[in-house]
Amino acid sequence: MKIGDLVVEPVFDGVMNVPATAFKGTTDDVWAPHRQFLDADGRLEFALGGFLVRVPGGRLVLVDAGIGARSGPAMSGSGQFSGGELLNSLAKQQVQPGDITDVVFTHLHFDHVGWASHEGAIVFPNATYRCDGRDWAHFQGNERTMSTLAPIADRLVTWDGSGPLVPGVDLMSAPGHTPGSTIIVLSSGTARGLLLGDVVHCPVELVDDEWAGLGDVDPELAKRTKNALAREIEGTDTPVAAAHFPGMVFGRLLSANGQRSWVV
Ligand SMILES: [Zn+2]
Repeated sequence: MKIGDLVVEPVFDGVMNVPATAFKGTTDDVWAPHRQFLDADGRLEFALGGFLVRVPGGRLVLVDAGIGARSGPAMSGSGQFSGGELLNSLAKQQVQPGDITDVVFTHLHFDHVGWASHEGAIVFPNATYRCDGRDWAHFQGNERTMSTLAPIADRLVTWDGSGPLVPGVDLMSAPGHTPGSTIIVLSSGTARGLLLGDVVHCPVELVDDEWAGLGDVDPELAKRTKNALAREIEGTDTPVAAAHFPGMVFGRLLSANGQRSWVV
């Protein structure tokens, strides 16, 4: 995906597979009109990984760092996840860990910080690690997140809400999923694209305002944030991708006759 002079590439770490009804309040009937978002078995496949942003001038920004070299049950045992491929994926993209200049976390859930460190050692030795300060405060007591982030704590730089990060990469505060949840805005010339983090997990959440999210710290705020985003992007040419969309593929939210639809 090219956004003006920026090049954005998915970096796969693994997948998580859960029943569609992991979305609270949904049934097979609720999903019937939305089967385009499900796999052949009627389940949801979530990608795990991050996005590599190649910024003209040499910055190599990794947005989210996958789940790490682990596997196990997901969503109260009704699904499975497995990770571990992120560094292999980067190598196939001709990127070594030392080349990454910035690791930017959309939020600090464990499936986004997995490769910050590995077995106690920093994985990206030349990178500045970055996240919203509200998430850094919120996750201090979270063992799964902090065990991975402890080795990089002294090279973590926090931001405070929306604003510029590096040229071409801006931050849009999007609280609710977590207190410091952030959308990454990529822009170059007149081109613009968004990395949504976990503001949505499946495009169906953008199509239907009533659809609730997954794993939100503040579900009501998360829904307001998600619906404001949908209103902002519907009917525009802005490509968006979220961390867990299958294949980490960008899509657009179309709008016609008061109905939204998702196209990739
Ligand atoms: Zn996630």
